[in-house]
Amino acid sequence: MSVVSQTISCMECGARIDDSPSTASERRVPCPSCGSTVRVYHLNVRGTITMHGSLGLKARHGQSGRPFVDAKMGDDLFRKTGKWNKLERRIDYVKRWYYEKIVDSETGQVIRDVSEPLDKHRGRGSAKRTERQ
Ligand SMILES: [Zn+2]
Repeated sequence: MSVVSQTISCMECGARIDDSPSTASERRVPCPSCGSTVRVYHLNVRGTITMHGSLGLKARHGQSGRPFVDAKMGDDLFRKTGKWNKLERRIDYVKRWYYEKIVDSETGQVIRDVSEPLDKHRGRGSAKRTERQ
C-alpha cells in the first residue's frame, strides 16, 4: 500500500487538525474549534489496505471517490459486561463484505466474530445496534 495523502479532522465539527494518527488518545490536543479529541483519519491510498493504529479509517480512491473501505479498530466498551474489548470492524464496499471481531482484552476470548455479505448484515442490523448502543 502506498499512502497518497493523509488528513486528519475533528469528528465533531470537521475542523482540519494537524496531528498524528499515532498520538495516543490521552495525549491528543483538543480541537481548537470545539474542544473534542475525537478524530477522523482520512487516508488516500493506492493498492490494498493494511490497517495500523487504533481508530477509524476510510479509504478512498482519490479525493472525491466514495469510500471503499470503512474500518474501525480499537477499544470498545461493551455495555453488557462493562468491560473494554478490542474491536475490529471493516466494511468493504468493493467486495460488499462486513467483518467484525470483538475480543475480550483481558482473556483474549473471542466474543463476536462476524464475516458475512454486507446485504445480509444490513438486513438484520437493528439487533446489533441495540446490543452495542
Ligand atoms: Zn472540533
